[in-house]
Amino acid sequence: MKTFDIDRDAAETLALDAFVEQVLHLEGKACLTNSFQIEDMVVLHQLRQIAPNIPVLFLDTGYHFKETYAYRDRMVQEWGLNLVSLQAKQSVADQESAFGILNQTDPSRCCSLRKVAPLMQGLEPYDIWFTGLRREQSPTRKNLRKLEPHVLPTGKSLLKVSPLADWDFKQVWSYISRHQIEYLPLYDQGYSSIGCEPCTSIPEDSNNPRSGRWSGRKLECGIHTFTETNASPLTTLQDGQ
Ligand code: SF4
Repeated sequence: MKTFDIDRDAAETLALDAFVEQVLHLEGKACLTNSFQIEDMVVLHQLRQIAPNIPVLFLDTGYHFKETYAYRDRMVQEWGLNLVSLQAKQSVADQESAFGILNQTDPSRCCSLRKVAPLMQGLEPYDIWFTGLRREQSPTRKNLRKLEPHVLPTGKSLLKVSPLADWDFKQVWSYISRHQIEYLPLYDQGYSSIGCEPCTSIPEDSNNPRSGRWSGRKLECGIHTFTETNASPLTTLQDGQ
């Protein structure tokens, strides 16, 4: 099992640039998952200062908004991104003809087929996984730490890195505006958490940005609930030094 020589508690207190720099100096192959929401763009903007060719993993479920695809393509072009598109085994058409519209009848299964499985497979070549997750986004993320172990179904262990874990929505927007980063136009229509089109709506509760996902029926697609926070891989990190 790979070990990472980094102090988790000290890392929590570092500023974004110092934190990202420290993690990128660890030995291991790094990547970022990016759904082209503002949090992911902040992390990507920071990573590119040091690692411009970092693989940017995009989960192409086939169900994204056309605006998301257009924005992704623009940013890939403008920032010269090393995009890695991860796709499910079945096309949307094949899945719908075999199982019907799962995002209406069984969204957990749909997410499992179109998000969790391709991502877990797509992460296999990497040791360090950057995300744009924040604690404030959902009750399921309230205990998120900037550095966590993540064990893939094959048993491979990764370091999952969430540099914005302690940021609020305002800080994200402030970074976007300070650095004049073009953002996904759907935010201007009132969306605050943007995933697949059939499962994303404008949130009724502005204090709960993810309430517009899956019509409030669930909070997570399952990608991040696979992370083990108290398993043995924690021994690969230094705690409380
Ligand atoms: S978010 Fe919706 S459409 Fe996308 S994979 Fe999950 S259930 Fe399917």
